[in-house]
Amino acid sequence: MIEDSHQSRTNLSELGEFGLIDLLTKNLAPKLSSTIKGIGDDAAVLDFKDKQTLVTTDLMVEGVHFDLAYMPLKHLGYKAVMVNLSDVYAMNGTASQITIGIACSNRFPVEALEELYAGIELAAKLYDIDVVGGDTTSSTKGLFISITAVGYAEKEDVVYRSGAKPNDLLVVTGDLGAAYMGLQILEREKAVFKVNPNSQPDLDAYTYLIERQLKPEARKDIAPLFKDLGLRPTSMIDISDGLSSEIIHLCKNSGVGVNLFENKIPLDPAVISACEEFELDSTTIALSGGEDYELLFTVAQEDFEKIKANPNFSIIGHMTEAREGMHLVTRGNTKIPLIAKGWNAMDKEND
Ligand code: ADP
Ligand code: MG
Repeated sequence: MIEDSHQSRTNLSELGEFGLIDLLTKNLAPKLSSTIKGIGDDAAVLDFKDKQTLVTTDLMVEGVHFDLAYMPLKHLGYKAVMVNLSDVYAMNGTASQITIGIACSNRFPVEALEELYAGIELAAKLYDIDVVGGDTTSSTKGLFISITAVGYAEKEDVVYRSGAKPNDLLVVTGDLGAAYMGLQILEREKAVFKVNPNSQPDLDAYTYLIERQLKPEARKDIAPLFKDLGLRPTSMIDISDGLSSEIIHLCKNSGVGVNLFENKIPLDPAVISACEEFELDSTTIALSGGEDYELLFTVAQEDFEKIKANPNFSIIGHMTEAREGMHLVTRGNTKIPLIAKGWNAMDKEND
């Protein structure tokens, strides 16, 4: 967890827009050689030489994507950066710069935005990112954070969602479902706290789950690992919405089908025990939970030797001809159609 510390309250209007921008960006001098000009002009100037440029944006809205009742602002800043870097890593690229758009109501004191930026700064430092610009404005209600991440890759290294072929192996990094179970724990504690504000929750047993929800880490390590292994995935996507909807994206974009094996889905023991406690099915949670920020990719069968013993990877299925459809093969060896129950940002209903 990251330490949280703000105590005093300075009204946003005391500083004004430019004073606030100066305060928030004072520690953000650029470090990378690809940053020609960072904060302070009308636009940042970047130089990636002969590499291809990757650009991606995510918008996070209070009450939709986060709840400040249990999401400390420092964690929120960190997570908002991770969500974006994850998309660059999912293209097999190196993330290098971000810009940050903030809109907030005057219910937030200056110190709150400093906490948010402390999380952003920490993420930028740990992931070698320059913050090269942004925009700051007011909102009538709530907090909005929009981050744009920029990165680069050699043309031949870029991996799209569209390259999977029948018989390719389907592989995932890390484990799944923990971020969703962390959210269940936090929601439960919030409800308990409402009834009894003096309750002192003992959350030790849930540390991993809560960390995965509040402080996710994007898989910066995977693109270099592919390089070391001499491996180029045929397709790739990051897991923001849940395994099933991401698999369906790969299948639809690549024009293939899939057999996903239930018994191969990687679950941390903490997810299994939390699912028992909440009487939830752990496979459903892995398929639909979301926010794991792991990478899902396909590789040619010939590359099996390169990945089989690597602890970062789990082989969870294989691609088929499109006409064979998209299926989950259960532990009982029955085949059920895969549906995208993953998080739908528009209405939270199944899509
Ligand atoms: P402009 O009027 O051109 O939009 P601003 O006065 O809004 O410029 O911003 C001045 C500089 O500060 C620009 O380099 C801009 O990218 C940067 N900036 C503004 N807001 C933020 C922010 N929230 N985080 C990081 N950089 C910011
Ligand atoms: Mg501006």
